[in-house]
Amino acid sequence: MKNQWNKEESVRYIKKYKALGYHEDMALRVYTSRLIGRENSLVLHGGGNTSVKTKLKDIDDSYHDVICVKGSGWDLSNIEPEGLPAVKLKPLLKLRKKKYLSDDNMVSYQKRNLLNSKSPNPSVETFLHAFLPHKYVDHTHSNAILTLTNRANGKALCNDIFNDNVKVMPYIMPGFSLALEVNEYLKNYPEINALILMNHGIFTFSNSAQESYRLMIKYVSIAENYLKKQKSSFAVIKERKISSAFTPEMILPVIRGAVSTKNPYILSFKTNKNIIDFMNHSRAKYYMNQGTITPDHVIRIKPFPLFIDREKITKTKNIRKLIIREIASYRKRYENYFNEFNAKSKIKKHMLDSCPNIIYLQDIGMVSVGQTKKDSMIAMDIAEQNIMVIKDIESTSHFKTITKNELFDMEYWSLEQAKLKKQKRELEGKIVVITGALGKIGFETYKIFKNQGAEVVLLDVCGSSVKDFRKQYSDLCIKCDVSEKKSVEKAFSTIINEYGGLDILISNAGNAPQGMIADISDKELKKSFDDNFFSHQYCASITTNILIQQNTKGCLLFNISKQSVNPGKSFGPYGLPKAALMNLCKQYAIDYGSFGIRSNGVNADRIMSGILNKKMISKRSKARGISTREYMEGNLLNKEVYAVDVAKAFYHLAISEKTTGAILTVDGGNIAASFR
Ligand code: ZN
Repeated sequence: MKNQWNKEESVRYIKKYKALGYHEDMALRVYTSRLIGRENSLVLHGGGNTSVKTKLKDIDDSYHDVICVKGSGWDLSNIEPEGLPAVKLKPLLKLRKKKYLSDDNMVSYQKRNLLNSKSPNPSVETFLHAFLPHKYVDHTHSNAILTLTNRANGKALCNDIFNDNVKVMPYIMPGFSLALEVNEYLKNYPEINALILMNHGIFTFSNSAQESYRLMIKYVSIAENYLKKQKSSFAVIKERKISSAFTPEMILPVIRGAVSTKNPYILSFKTNKNIIDFMNHSRAKYYMNQGTITPDHVIRIKPFPLFIDREKITKTKNIRKLIIREIASYRKRYENYFNEFNAKSKIKKHMLDSCPNIIYLQDIGMVSVGQTKKDSMIAMDIAEQNIMVIKDIESTSHFKTITKNELFDMEYWSLEQAKLKKQKRELEGKIVVITGALGKIGFETYKIFKNQGAEVVLLDVCGSSVKDFRKQYSDLCIKCDVSEKKSVEKAFSTIINEYGGLDILISNAGNAPQGMIADISDKELKKSFDDNFFSHQYCASITTNILIQQNTKGCLLFNISKQSVNPGKSFGPYGLPKAALMNLCKQYAIDYGSFGIRSNGVNADRIMSGILNKKMISKRSKARGISTREYMEGNLLNKEVYAVDVAKAFYHLAISEKTTGAILTVDGGNIAASFR
């Protein structure tokens, strides 16, 4: 592993943070923390932690010795000083004499001694960092170190490879008791500069930031070089590989439905040579059930995955039944695991959702499950990291990690679960697809659903708008012409592969041609039916079929128009397909109500948008002999209606679980267009 320390860059950090009022100690702590955080084989997604001991001034001008240690919710790769909350050091060191401290007391004591009460919670490993006398402490879950420790003779091997400055400690669950144990080691071996914790990771320490970081890279490199020299043979059974008849698209919505019976989940899917090889190892099933490579991975990927082997997949005639059965039997197995270890536990726990977080489909790929897309991607990355480390171990030795009991303690440790707890928003775990998403109404709708925690996919026909959106936002935005069935199929296939399914369709795209009905050409009228009727049918039909596969209920929402009930002069080419669309909306409500699929529409009028633009507004108001303002406010409430008002109507219909076959008007009040 390359040492990335760069003198000029370190000086830049010192200058930058000095200007912001921070001492050099903190500037260098931020610098080397980021160097560590950027190396995926050292830490992943908030794993690992670092600290610096320094002096800081309180508001009352008094100085305190403090330890600034990584705070919960921060990632080393982009940490800032605020992500390293300062805890007064003296009170922490006082507890070295204490034999036991409960988790609750530990957390509240740490919080009570924060210099700024608004800081994030300091790491669960704060005491360990504090008890080490060195100014800088770096801690990672390095792949190479774990590859050495997680094997039958791991401890002896580490003692062999590393010099006397490195001590190897047996596995002890993180928290106060581990900190006490480290304190004892330091008393006996004051000269050491690194500690390897079996099945967990490595700590390096020094009074200089550069040196502590250098030691980390040095020891990890020693481990890497040792591993490189080993002859590797990963016993993959190649000849039995059969390509599957089932595509991820056929399988993912079924999985999503089966895992989402209690909470809605988002999936990620991945396949590559590493994953396929891993599943085709002769001992695959064995080591998949051994546990995670480092304890805190268990909160993301559970202690064991669901593995569905090729015999089952190729022999089945009904993949749906197979998946549902396999997930049900996983749930049973997880419940048994929970009951077994909960019975042994002093404090009784509340079982988490028993669904698998990682599913291996032999010869097809790996599926991960999370409350949000980000969570499912984190689980995927962690599972892949586990594969890489286990593969490396298995090529020369046998994978061995902590016991199931220890994994259970970690999985149900309140301090680990606290890392995952976020306030849940109304639509978290739901996948929403909006067509015509980059128009005014579509975009306001995107913002509202996104704010409510949904994963939103945007479809739009305009290539340059799609490009512009992608530059600014990370949400999935697909160029799609909804009037072309093939284009719709392609977009929905991407959505399934990306998220595993969907829950809400907001079929919003449209186009408003005008003309006297006797004069309009057949071609133009047909085009309007393609744009304003068939486009909705293509999206609704494909969505409904996915919802049925998922068996999770769901909602179709159509942007209809007041033209559907109150046609305007010379607006036939637009109003006619919209009238058909209103019936389409009702037809879905009738045909699929028994599946729990709801179908509702919004009749909006006079919204300034791409369809009703400024030019059109001035033309129509002139024709009526009124000002544009009078035209826009010409309703019972005398108030202009905005795109955001339509977006709100979509949202309310989406969450009104007992409403289907309904049309909501958003027009400021217009009796002629109202339902009687
Ligand atoms: Zn750790």
